[in-house]
Amino acid sequence: MEEYDVAVVGGGPAGCRAAEEAAAEKSTVVFESGVNREDRDAAGADSTDAAGLLDYWLELMEIGPEEFDDIPVLQEIESARFRSPEASVEITETGVDSWYQGFGVTFDRVAFDDLLRERAIDAGAEYRLASVRGTRVEDGRHVVESADGDVAADYLVLADGPQRRVTLPTLQRYTSDSRLHEHLGPGNANHIAYQEHRRFPQELFPENSLEFWWGYIPGDTAYPWVFPNDAEVARVGLTMPSDLDLSGYDAAEYPLLTEDDDTVPPGRVYLERLLEQLYPEYSVDDFPLVEDRGKQGGVESYPISSTRPIESPVDADVAVVGGAMAATSAFHEGGYHLAYATGEIAGRCIAEDRLEEYNEEWRNRLGREMKRNVALARLVEGYSPRDYDRLFQVAEDTLHGGWLTKLKALPSVMSLRYRYGGFTDGYLAFTEDDYSYQL
Ligand SMILES: Cc1cc2nc3c(=O)[nH]c(=O)nc-3n(C[C@H](O)[C@H](O)[C@H](O)COP(=O)(O)OP(=O)(O)OC[C@H]3O[C@@H](n4cnc5c(N)ncnc54)[C@H](O)[C@@H]3O)c2cc1C
Repeated sequence: MEEYDVAVVGGGPAGCRAAEEAAAEKSTVVFESGVNREDRDAAGADSTDAAGLLDYWLELMEIGPEEFDDIPVLQEIESARFRSPEASVEITETGVDSWYQGFGVTFDRVAFDDLLRERAIDAGAEYRLASVRGTRVEDGRHVVESADGDVAADYLVLADGPQRRVTLPTLQRYTSDSRLHEHLGPGNANHIAYQEHRRFPQELFPENSLEFWWGYIPGDTAYPWVFPNDAEVARVGLTMPSDLDLSGYDAAEYPLLTEDDDTVPPGRVYLERLLEQLYPEYSVDDFPLVEDRGKQGGVESYPISSTRPIESPVDADVAVVGGAMAATSAFHEGGYHLAYATGEIAGRCIAEDRLEEYNEEWRNRLGREMKRNVALARLVEGYSPRDYDRLFQVAEDTLHGGWLTKLKALPSVMSLRYRYGGFTDGYLAFTEDDYSYQL
């Protein structure tokens, strides 16, 4: 059997970043299933297209002005606009300190994923296009079973993203606690994201703004969005829970539902309705699909993690990173920065033979951000369209109202802050102490 110091399952941003750091000191192999895309010549990571990064996320990634030049930026973003059926608020600052002076950027995710892969290879890691079927422990070492043969390694990095096909069975070796499966099982812990690449009429292209519509479709943290890419091409997408029963929802309350909908409409139908309602003077044909992008014909769908993060069983020499550890925010889907940073921390801890410090190190650097994401998602749990109207009106009044309006909004702000504060406790779904080691 082939032997390495480190085996990484998954060659997305988290896995490649971990491999780059680990490879500085250890023999490292990365396994990536390999996904084909219209806009990439060969199979690679399961990259979404453009992604958004906010100003302070660069700080969390420890990317300074010089390294920032490596990011293939598509658009500089000046604001995010959140709309509900009856209210809207525009945010032009994240309110968190950063050296980057704008609100954020959208970037070419495929190109950046490919760059991270190159950086891992340049650092000495081997990158194999092969699916991992599972892992086992043999003679105290981790064995990764892949389509390309088995590999033994001292350290195992689980970076297979939110589907966790390898992560979940591997972690179950270290616990009999059913909460792990409840929290990480893709059926109950994930949303689905569906997106289309559409060319916008020039006058409608939201060049410098990220747009979100909350309370338009049913389900917790379910919403459509528009993100600008390049040359009038935008990603029009949505995220929603995987299995939603519509019977508890009043179709009349949700702009993108009709009385005839017995089941959740497909993402394509939701997005057509969105475009029709936003731009009644245009037809959907005025926003043609850009078919040479995305996974197939300008369209792509992905699972997305919508649960709380877990710690890793580091005493078993296992690190879980990125989407696999549920680092992605259930509230706004942002997770690239956390995948990048958790991968980096895990890889560096492994390179320096101090993996036991991994959980504490990522909590110190990223715990505040993860708490914020978990608390925001909990805050809006069960929200109806009317609740979003109230939330966005309070935000609008507080950010842009006169002093009297701000004063009137104060009790609502205090109450929201109080509820938010209560939700930051217990943001971890599974801690290091919850594992029991039987190696
Ligand atoms: C539609 C959408 C939009 C998003 N927008 C943003 C955004 O704007 N900003 C942001 O910050 N984040 C965004 N995210 C979240 C971000 O994409 C994730 O947080 C990030 O990709 C997580 O990185 P990762 O490396 O942990 O996992 P992934 O990127 O999911 O990578 C996991 C890799 O593992 C591979 N793999 C899986 N199983 C196996 C196996 N058995 N064997 C070998 N390889 C395997 C997969 O092919 C994949 O390449 C978005 C996500 C989606 C789905």
